[in-house]
Amino acid sequence: MGSFLAVVCIRVPQKKSLLFPSSCCDYCGQRLHPSEMIPLFSALRQKFHCSHCQQPFSSRSFWLELICGILFWLFLRDFHWLLCWQLFWLLSSLVLAVIDWDHLIVEMRIFLSTGMILLISGLFLVPIYWLHPLIVGSGFFLSQKIFPNSLGLGDLWVIGLWSLFLTGYELLQLLFIASVSGLIFFSCQLLRKKKPERLPFLPFLFIGLLILLIKNH
Ligand SMILES: [Zn+2]
Repeated sequence: MGSFLAVVCIRVPQKKSLLFPSSCCDYCGQRLHPSEMIPLFSALRQKFHCSHCQQPFSSRSFWLELICGILFWLFLRDFHWLLCWQLFWLLSSLVLAVIDWDHLIVEMRIFLSTGMILLISGLFLVPIYWLHPLIVGSGFFLSQKIFPNSLGLGDLWVIGLWSLFLTGYELLQLLFIASVSGLIFFSCQLLRKKKPERLPFLPFLFIGLLILLIKNH
Protein backbone atom coordinates (compact mmCIF):
# COMPACT_ATOMS: atom_id res chain seq x y z
CA MET A 1 0.00 0.00 0.00
CA GLY A 2 2.84 2.40 0.84
CA SER A 3 4.52 1.72 -2.51
CA PHE A 4 1.22 2.26 -4.31
CA LEU A 5 0.55 5.53 -2.46
CA ALA A 6 4.06 6.74 -3.36
CA VAL A 7 3.21 6.15 -7.04
CA VAL A 8 -0.13 7.99 -6.59
CA CYS A 9 1.67 10.98 -5.02
CA ILE A 10 4.00 11.28 -8.02
CA ARG A 11 1.77 10.37 -10.95
CA VAL A 12 -1.66 11.87 -10.14
CA PRO A 13 -0.45 15.52 -10.11
CA GLN A 14 1.34 14.83 -13.42
CA LYS A 15 -1.91 13.33 -14.80
CA LYS A 16 -0.09 10.08 -15.61
CA SER A 17 -1.57 6.58 -15.51
CA LEU A 18 -1.15 4.69 -12.23
CA LEU A 19 -0.64 1.34 -13.95
CA PHE A 20 1.54 2.08 -17.00
CA PRO A 21 4.43 2.33 -17.50
CA SER A 22 5.69 0.05 -14.74
CA SER A 23 8.15 1.50 -12.23
CA CYS A 24 11.53 2.50 -13.60
CA CYS A 25 14.62 4.46 -12.59
CA ASP A 26 14.13 8.25 -12.95
CA TYR A 27 17.66 8.68 -14.34
CA CYS A 28 18.41 5.80 -16.70
CA GLY A 29 14.83 4.63 -17.33
CA GLN A 30 15.72 1.02 -16.53
CA ARG A 31 12.60 -1.00 -15.62
CA LEU A 32 12.73 -2.24 -12.05
CA HIS A 33 13.13 -5.96 -11.48
CA PRO A 34 10.57 -7.48 -9.06
CA SER A 35 13.42 -7.99 -6.57
CA GLU A 36 13.98 -4.19 -6.66
CA MET A 37 10.38 -3.48 -5.71
CA ILE A 38 10.18 -5.24 -2.35
CA PRO A 39 8.92 -2.55 0.06
CA LEU A 40 11.54 -1.21 2.52
CA PHE A 41 13.90 -4.13 1.91
CA SER A 42 14.98 -3.30 -1.68
CA ALA A 43 15.79 0.35 -0.91
CA LEU A 44 17.91 -0.66 2.11
CA ARG A 45 19.71 -3.44 0.21
CA GLN A 46 20.54 -1.05 -2.67
CA LYS A 47 21.42 1.75 -0.21
CA PHE A 48 19.01 4.08 -2.05
CA HIS A 49 20.93 3.77 -5.34
CA CYS A 50 19.77 2.43 -8.72
CA SER A 51 21.38 -0.97 -9.24
CA HIS A 52 21.77 -0.19 -12.96
CA CYS A 53 23.21 3.36 -13.17
CA GLN A 54 24.17 3.76 -9.46
CA GLN A 55 22.41 7.17 -9.24
CA PRO A 56 20.90 7.86 -5.81
CA PHE A 57 17.08 7.88 -5.62
CA SER A 58 14.75 9.67 -3.26
CA SER A 59 13.99 8.00 0.05
CA ARG A 60 10.36 9.21 -0.28
CA SER A 61 8.88 5.79 -1.09
CA PHE A 62 10.82 4.20 1.76
CA TRP A 63 9.36 6.61 4.33
CA LEU A 64 5.85 6.30 2.92
CA GLU A 65 6.11 2.49 3.08
CA LEU A 66 7.36 2.69 6.65
CA ILE A 67 4.63 5.12 7.77
CA CYS A 68 1.95 2.98 6.06
CA GLY A 69 3.31 -0.15 7.69
CA ILE A 70 3.19 1.47 11.14
CA LEU A 71 -0.34 2.84 10.52
CA PHE A 72 -1.62 -0.57 9.37
CA TRP A 73 -0.07 -2.18 12.45
CA LEU A 74 -1.56 0.46 14.77
CA PHE A 75 -5.06 0.48 13.31
CA LEU A 76 -5.59 -3.09 12.13
CA ARG A 77 -4.26 -5.09 15.08
CA ASP A 78 -7.87 -5.72 16.05
CA PHE A 79 -10.27 -5.62 13.16
CA HIS A 80 -12.99 -3.03 13.56
CA TRP A 81 -14.83 -1.13 10.83
CA LEU A 82 -14.32 2.18 12.66
CA LEU A 83 -10.54 1.63 12.76
CA CYS A 84 -10.53 0.72 9.05
CA TRP A 85 -12.40 3.93 8.35
CA GLN A 86 -9.91 5.96 10.42
CA LEU A 87 -7.02 4.29 8.60
CA PHE A 88 -8.57 5.21 5.24
CA TRP A 89 -8.98 8.79 6.49
CA LEU A 90 -5.32 8.94 7.50
CA LEU A 91 -3.97 7.35 4.30
CA SER A 92 -6.03 9.59 2.02
CA SER A 93 -4.91 12.68 3.92
CA LEU A 94 -1.31 11.45 3.84
CA VAL A 95 -1.45 11.39 0.03
CA LEU A 96 -3.03 14.86 -0.06
CA ALA A 97 -0.35 16.10 2.37
CA VAL A 98 2.55 14.76 0.28
CA ILE A 99 1.12 16.30 -2.92
CA ASP A 100 0.57 19.62 -1.12
CA TRP A 101 4.17 19.47 0.11
CA ASP A 102 5.48 18.91 -3.43
CA HIS A 103 3.18 21.14 -5.47
CA LEU A 104 1.42 23.46 -2.97
CA ILE A 105 -1.97 22.30 -4.20
CA VAL A 106 -4.86 20.33 -2.77
CA GLU A 107 -5.35 17.61 -5.38
CA MET A 108 -9.11 17.95 -5.85
CA ARG A 109 -9.67 14.64 -7.70
CA ILE A 110 -8.21 12.70 -4.78
CA PHE A 111 -9.93 14.93 -2.23
CA LEU A 112 -13.37 14.57 -3.81
CA SER A 113 -13.21 10.82 -4.44
CA THR A 114 -11.79 9.84 -1.05
CA GLY A 115 -13.93 12.49 0.69
CA MET A 116 -17.08 10.98 -0.81
CA ILE A 117 -16.10 7.49 0.38
CA LEU A 118 -15.27 8.87 3.85
CA LEU A 119 -18.59 10.68 4.15
CA ILE A 120 -20.80 7.85 2.89
CA SER A 121 -19.10 5.20 5.04
CA GLY A 122 -18.85 7.65 7.94
CA LEU A 123 -22.66 7.94 7.98
CA PHE A 124 -22.79 4.36 9.28
CA LEU A 125 -19.86 4.60 11.68
CA VAL A 126 -19.56 8.00 13.38
CA PRO A 127 -21.83 10.88 14.40
CA ILE A 128 -21.84 13.55 11.68
CA TYR A 129 -21.76 17.19 12.75
CA TRP A 130 -23.55 18.79 9.80
CA LEU A 131 -23.27 22.34 11.19
CA HIS A 132 -19.49 22.30 11.59
CA PRO A 133 -18.58 23.03 7.93
CA LEU A 134 -20.80 26.12 8.11
CA ILE A 135 -18.99 27.31 11.24
CA VAL A 136 -15.60 26.56 9.66
CA GLY A 137 -16.64 28.42 6.49
CA SER A 138 -17.76 31.50 8.45
CA GLY A 139 -14.55 31.42 10.52
CA PHE A 140 -12.57 31.25 7.28
CA PHE A 141 -14.23 34.29 5.71
CA LEU A 142 -13.81 36.22 8.97
CA SER A 143 -10.11 35.30 9.17
CA GLN A 144 -9.64 36.31 5.50
CA LYS A 145 -10.85 39.80 6.43
CA ILE A 146 -8.17 40.03 9.16
CA PHE A 147 -5.33 37.98 7.56
CA PRO A 148 -5.92 37.93 3.78
CA ASN A 149 -4.59 34.83 1.97
CA SER A 150 -3.52 33.19 5.23
CA LEU A 151 -5.26 29.94 4.31
CA GLY A 152 -5.88 28.49 0.86
CA LEU A 153 -9.35 27.57 -0.34
CA GLY A 154 -8.21 23.96 -0.77
CA ASP A 155 -7.24 23.78 2.89
CA LEU A 156 -10.68 25.12 3.77
CA TRP A 157 -12.35 22.26 1.83
CA VAL A 158 -10.27 19.71 3.73
CA ILE A 159 -10.92 21.25 7.15
CA GLY A 160 -14.62 21.59 6.27
CA LEU A 161 -14.87 17.90 5.41
CA TRP A 162 -12.94 16.77 8.49
CA SER A 163 -15.07 19.01 10.73
CA LEU A 164 -18.04 16.76 9.90
CA PHE A 165 -16.42 13.93 11.85
CA LEU A 166 -14.90 15.85 14.79
CA THR A 167 -16.42 17.43 17.89
CA GLY A 168 -15.81 21.17 18.28
CA TYR A 169 -13.13 20.48 20.89
CA GLU A 170 -11.35 17.92 18.68
CA LEU A 171 -11.45 20.35 15.76
CA LEU A 172 -9.81 23.05 17.90
CA GLN A 173 -7.16 20.56 19.05
CA LEU A 174 -6.49 19.58 15.43
CA LEU A 175 -6.10 23.19 14.28
CA PHE A 176 -3.93 23.97 17.30
CA ILE A 177 -1.52 21.06 16.66
CA ALA A 178 -1.40 21.85 12.92
CA SER A 179 -0.69 25.56 13.54
CA VAL A 180 1.96 24.93 16.20
CA SER A 181 3.78 22.28 14.15
CA GLY A 182 3.57 24.57 11.09
CA LEU A 183 5.03 27.45 13.11
CA ILE A 184 7.85 25.27 14.45
CA PHE A 185 8.69 24.16 10.91
CA PHE A 186 8.52 27.75 9.63
CA SER A 187 10.86 28.95 12.42
CA CYS A 188 13.34 26.15 11.68
CA GLN A 189 13.33 27.14 8.00
CA LEU A 190 13.94 30.78 9.00
CA LEU A 191 16.87 29.71 11.19
CA ARG A 192 18.29 27.79 8.23
CA LYS A 193 17.79 30.99 6.18
CA LYS A 194 15.35 29.24 3.85
CA LYS A 195 12.25 31.37 4.22
CA PRO A 196 9.51 29.53 2.31
CA GLU A 197 7.32 31.68 0.04
CA ARG A 198 4.26 29.69 0.98
CA LEU A 199 3.78 26.99 3.53
CA PRO A 200 1.77 23.88 2.64
CA PHE A 201 -0.77 23.40 5.42
CA LEU A 202 -2.01 19.85 4.73
CA PRO A 203 1.16 18.12 6.04
CA PHE A 204 0.59 19.84 9.39
CA LEU A 205 -3.13 19.07 9.36
CA PHE A 206 -2.13 15.44 8.76
CA ILE A 207 0.15 15.53 11.83
CA GLY A 208 -2.77 16.95 13.85
CA LEU A 209 -5.16 14.26 12.62
CA LEU A 210 -2.61 11.52 13.27
CA ILE A 211 -2.05 12.63 16.87
CA LEU A 212 -5.79 13.07 17.46
CA LEU A 213 -6.77 9.64 16.11
CA ILE A 214 -3.94 7.82 17.89
CA LYS A 215 -4.82 9.61 21.16
CA ASN A 216 -8.48 8.53 20.86
CA HIS A 217 -7.42 5.03 19.82
ZN1 LIG B 1 19.15 4.04 -13.00
